[in-house]
Amino acid sequence: MSVGRCVSVMIMLVALSGCREAGRESAAPPHADSPYVARAEKEVYKAFAELQRQDDAERKQGLAVRKLLRGDPQRKWIALTFDDGPHPDYTPRLVEILKRYKVKATFFVVGKMAEQYPDLVRLLYQEGHAIGNHTYHHVNLTRLEAEQIAVEIKACGEVIQSLTGHAPHLFRPPGGDYNPTVAEIANALGYWLILWTDDPGDYARPNEAILKQRVLDQLSNGGIILLHDGVPETIDLLPQLLDYLKREGYEVVLVDRMLSSEQPHSANR
Ligand SMILES: [Zn+2]
Repeated sequence: MSVGRCVSVMIMLVALSGCREAGRESAAPPHADSPYVARAEKEVYKAFAELQRQDDAERKQGLAVRKLLRGDPQRKWIALTFDDGPHPDYTPRLVEILKRYKVKATFFVVGKMAEQYPDLVRLLYQEGHAIGNHTYHHVNLTRLEAEQIAVEIKACGEVIQSLTGHAPHLFRPPGGDYNPTVAEIANALGYWLILWTDDPGDYARPNEAILKQRVLDQLSNGGIILLHDGVPETIDLLPQLLDYLKREGYEVVLVDRMLSSEQPHSANR
């Protein structure tokens, strides 16, 4: 990478998220409601249809990507995922609700947030939730050079490993933005790419009735639901959603359960 390119990548990283040292020094960035929501609002999440088109293109090119777009659709099961935490106010509330319903979820944490709130990562781990990698600075990896992609993924993985004693093996690219280079690097670092089928757009904060309707409209066997840590409406939605899933006979599982029968580019749709 040229010096100029390297500098511009660094400037972009700093502009997006603050440098590692700054992240340590400052508390959560100021925002009327939530810095997590403010960040997520800027993100454009890929729709399931778009992820499927990308999947088709990879298959046509013969790329063997270790990736999960959905679990086995023959089984009435669902995986709940929460991105962008941990969050000092909301993570404990999510944990409390999940505990009440005896449900485990998969949390894709941002490295610098995990570093800032280590006790919350330990809490998630102690409660039996799965902890996945969501990059260190929450950046769009498709805009970075290979070297920087690896740095983002490795840095988050190291924080998680230092707090839980286990190297994570689940990775979700911010916004669902990935390309063959990102997939190759993540796979080479030992990760599965975990995407989603069901994105109700909770980051934009529609009320819980709208959120619930969107989740239910997209609900399907083997579905992976994308929600966010740090969104009050998601806290309001969660008990209703868990009641519904229980009533309808869905088994709520960790992503790992869905992965156990997967092969690269096998029955993941
Ligand atoms: Zn995210």
